[in-house]
Amino acid sequence: MEIILAKTAGFCFGVNNAIKIAEDLQNSGGVINTMGPLIHNDQVVNELKEKGIGIISDIGEAPEGSKVIIRAHGVAPEIYEEAEKRNIEIIDATCPYVKKIHKLVRNMREDGCTIVIAGDRNHPEVKGVNGWCGNSALIANTPEEADAFAPIDGKCCLVAQTTMTRERFDGIYDKLKEKCKSVVKFDTICSATSSRQEEAERIARISDVMLVIGSRKSSNTQKLFEICSKYCKKTYLAETYGDLPPINIKEIQTLGITAGASTPERT
Ligand code: SF4
Repeated sequence: MEIILAKTAGFCFGVNNAIKIAEDLQNSGGVINTMGPLIHNDQVVNELKEKGIGIISDIGEAPEGSKVIIRAHGVAPEIYEEAEKRNIEIIDATCPYVKKIHKLVRNMREDGCTIVIAGDRNHPEVKGVNGWCGNSALIANTPEEADAFAPIDGKCCLVAQTTMTRERFDGIYDKLKEKCKSVVKFDTICSATSSRQEEAERIARISDVMLVIGSRKSSNTQKLFEICSKYCKKTYLAETYGDLPPINIKEIQTLGITAGASTPERT
């Protein structure tokens, strides 16, 4: 059996950076929390907990004078304002690719554009981006959702959640052009994500069985699963060894493996 392991599998730059920031802080004393789980990986999150780094889901839960790590997904500006009021030190691990989208939507909204985000409205990254344009964005996760928009007057600015597939982003763009005469499209899909997705597709096309390693809660892992399932009928998603399906390796000629951006190499 031949095993093809994706070169792009594992931690991306943004997640690596966030983990490093948390690890560097773990012995610095005082109360430290992350705003939501730092990454979509229970093992890593539990290890951080054991080292004294807790998790809060709302900035109001952080004690005054404590430290809060903002994860790679980023947050809305109100979180920084609230932290400042309550003397909470923000350690900002927002991925620079996400920060770029924050600036973009803020500036384009100031220029009078309607902001449209191609992404999952319930995902923290999308909620954060929406916060930077005053929670005014129209949000579509599929071309069908964009098709349900009412006609839009004036100019539109379309950005993508960093983990969006290019195919879906293009589909949303096409629908948006039917709703608005002037659409400015910014391809904000992260290059780490697109290379990972392209490589996963290449491997899935030539594999009998494809394993996608990562959490079901992780957006980019879900997208990898979606892409691989399209090209390889026997695609499985597993977070740990225990999730692996019973596979008869004697029947497999080529096994492809990829992993989401928050999957540690040791998994
Ligand atoms: S997937 Fe891309 S945008 Fe998201 S954290 Fe990683 S490097 Fe940053």
